[in-house]
Amino acid sequence: MPPARVDVLILGGGLAGLRAALSCLKAAPGLRVAVVSLASIPSGSSFANRNDALGVHVCLNDSEREQYVREVQSLNRGQAFLDPRLLAIQAEEGEARLADLIELGLPFERDERGGLVPRSSCFSPDSRRAYVFKGLERAWGCFRSRLEALGCLFVPGFQPIAIRGGTDPGALLLPLGGGAAIPVRAGAVVVALGGPARLFRHTMAGPGVPGYGHGLLASAGADMANCGYLQFMWGTVPGKRFFQPGDWSGADPALAAPRRGHCPFGYRLEDSAVDLALAAMMEPDGTVPLEEGRVAPMAHASNGGAVIDEWAQTSVPGLLACGECATGMHGANRIGGGMVLATQVFGHRAGVRAVELAHGEDCGRGPAWEAPVIDRRERIEGLRWLAKGLSRFAVLGGRPGHQEFLRELRARLETARDWRLRLSLRTGEMVLDRL
Ligand SMILES: Cc1cc2nc3c(=O)[nH]c(=O)nc-3n(C[C@H](O)[C@H](O)[C@H](O)COP(=O)(O)OP(=O)(O)OC[C@H]3O[C@@H](n4cnc5c(N)ncnc54)[C@H](O)[C@@H]3O)c2cc1C
Repeated sequence: MPPARVDVLILGGGLAGLRAALSCLKAAPGLRVAVVSLASIPSGSSFANRNDALGVHVCLNDSEREQYVREVQSLNRGQAFLDPRLLAIQAEEGEARLADLIELGLPFERDERGGLVPRSSCFSPDSRRAYVFKGLERAWGCFRSRLEALGCLFVPGFQPIAIRGGTDPGALLLPLGGGAAIPVRAGAVVVALGGPARLFRHTMAGPGVPGYGHGLLASAGADMANCGYLQFMWGTVPGKRFFQPGDWSGADPALAAPRRGHCPFGYRLEDSAVDLALAAMMEPDGTVPLEEGRVAPMAHASNGGAVIDEWAQTSVPGLLACGECATGMHGANRIGGGMVLATQVFGHRAGVRAVELAHGEDCGRGPAWEAPVIDRRERIEGLRWLAKGLSRFAVLGGRPGHQEFLRELRARLETARDWRLRLSLRTGEMVLDRL
């Protein structure tokens, strides 16, 4: 059962939430820090890679940092919101966060001399700045055991249905097993609930992320940006095996080679013509029938979210965001390993700032929370409709018909009652609206 008040409330137990919790407790041992997630086992995209490995993009000297900043800016092509301060911090602080991960015991790939093995990355095939750790459950265990030793409180099996900042930050948590929603007050709330990819019918995101975190943040008044810039990877249907569009027999040979330099679709990159040619053959179920088998663009990690400052603060005082819930450090096309980097750099900064906020004055209770409306039938039908429509219209920068779908979504949002459907529709609206 969650306590009625904690110093820092962290929503989400992926790499961003765990990192934020660790930085809180390192900065202020004894602080009451609670981490809320759906499951008591590893959850989220952070621990879902089928290869059981993740890469983190880290610059180790000034020349790498300059190169990284230049590449991110040039890949963005001026299209998505990119905050130069956040980009510079990410380039600067990756090394320290990598050292933290090593100290924590994460199993990084090593050569025969014990040195870290630098690898190339998606969208940056010529660089060697990505470091891979293998064994995701073990990585989760490293965080978990250190956090337990520091007295972190884990609250699995609860879902936030409303959040707020301001003078009385906190969240309303609904137990998964049924029962009344429980309000939890806090000095600061860190939102690390992952991205919206699970709202799509075809997705490669991890389990335990219903995908409405962006809607929750927007409903709390946070400024949002870049929500249309999700990554899409092509995968087989069924099976979700990775399919490289550059290997498609119909691919333009001049574009096939550069397309093989990255897994996700690239917004405004010349080689995206390969993906768009595939998408032109898409059927209403969001799949493309090929000789190689049926494939679909599958929603992956998001580059959008709440706009944050250098300390992961959203536009709402007392409400912080990190990981896939936050934006401004990547641009439209994220270099491989950049997301794990962001979870660590801005998860850390969120934790440090949350400690400062938690030590502030308790301003007293805000208004009572509204009781949630639950309508399972409406929810099931509505979420199915949304999933189907997103995978048909909201992929690869938007498909023909997406404006009509957005209009219908808005009409549904006006009448929807169920709390989860409303937050999911709100999230879907932001994805479509920003295409
Ligand atoms: C297959 C795959 C491979 C990837 N490989 C890489 C890579 O090599 N390098 C890289 O940089 N990035 C990679 N990414 C992206 C990266 O792993 C994720 O974007 C990142 O780990 C997200 O971390 P997060 O903490 O923000 O969210 P998540 O890891 O998704 O965690 C979200 C947390 O919030 C909880 N949560 C969500 N909603 C609710 C709710 N309603 N109620 C309660 N709890 C909730 C979840 O249970 C979970 O604990 C990959 C992603 C995938 C899917």
